[in-house]
Amino acid sequence: MPYLTHPEALDHLLSGEPSYRVDQLRQWLYRTPVLSASDMTNLPIHVRESFSDHLWPFAIEDEQVGDAGKTRKWLFTAADGAAIETVLMGYPKRATLCISSQAGCALACTFCATGQFGFERHLEPGEIVAQVAYAQAFLRQIGMPGVPDHLTNIVFMGMGEPLANLKRVTEALRRMIEEMKMSPRSLTVSTVGIVPGIRQLANAGWPINLAISLHAADDELRTSLVPINKRYPIADLEEAATFYRETTGRRVSVEWTMMDGVNDNLDQADKLAGIAHRILAHVNLIALNPTPLSEERASTKLHIEQFAAALKQRGVNVTVRDTRGKDIDAACGQLRARSGRTKPPPTVGLTIGPRR
Ligand code: SF4
Repeated sequence: MPYLTHPEALDHLLSGEPSYRVDQLRQWLYRTPVLSASDMTNLPIHVRESFSDHLWPFAIEDEQVGDAGKTRKWLFTAADGAAIETVLMGYPKRATLCISSQAGCALACTFCATGQFGFERHLEPGEIVAQVAYAQAFLRQIGMPGVPDHLTNIVFMGMGEPLANLKRVTEALRRMIEEMKMSPRSLTVSTVGIVPGIRQLANAGWPINLAISLHAADDELRTSLVPINKRYPIADLEEAATFYRETTGRRVSVEWTMMDGVNDNLDQADKLAGIAHRILAHVNLIALNPTPLSEERASTKLHIEQFAAALKQRGVNVTVRDTRGKDIDAACGQLRARSGRTKPPPTVGLTIGPRR
């Protein structure tokens, strides 16, 4: 499978072929990805056919289109049955891809569909990069109406905690930056607060954006929503966020999922303002996309506006983000939940490659 092969070792796939074929294949995989090997027009037919059935390291198990064609969500299935969710969101001048770094997640945040299913396994660098390549190919070859024909932003906000899979995520980031030629500034890694991982990512040397999924501004509430907070409390997280900003020169953002009656009160706004000031962070508010197994519900529009106003009054830069894909279960883990998956399906008879 080409994407599961290290880019520097692609010649193993092309033994007996002239060496320039490796560069041609690398170009198709990373710079101008295509949905089918048959579209790799400068490669001989026998080469294209040699991997036409396994260009992608996953099959499409489900595909949903929402928001009048501006949101597309894929549930991919890897060869061992692991589920991978990817969401493409189109805007007039942007195309943002939300990718997964793990199949499932071990961190069990109470409001998250992925967390409610537990952990399957880490995704390999090639499985992470292939989500990006697939969406690039989709935008170039099929496209979304009124949306750029290429990705402008990649966010690690799908299934899994990227910093719990840091070695593979770092290699995936390297391929995006060095092979796909993406600007590090267009990449955002989101974390619920794996403090050592934040420091290691800072030391990787790329000016990548860091988003901290905070959701609560005191340790008692945060630990009840995000259990890893017990290990890495807010004070440690603030120190790591400051280290990240000072090391990379990138401003950190704070993500805050608005939950009705849970974290949308003035006391939380007050404490959140203090944190945002101390770590010089921009705050993004987003209404919870409710999941079937969770008791939490989204804050009302009025409460979100009041919460945003309270933050602004306290001098915080705040944005209320729109929720995409309400009509298609677009929150991470929801498509998998809807498919009825509680564990990986058997691999026998699995079709590798996109079912289009
Ligand atoms: S919110 Fe993120 S870290 Fe928490 S359970 Fe869900 S995927 Fe894991």
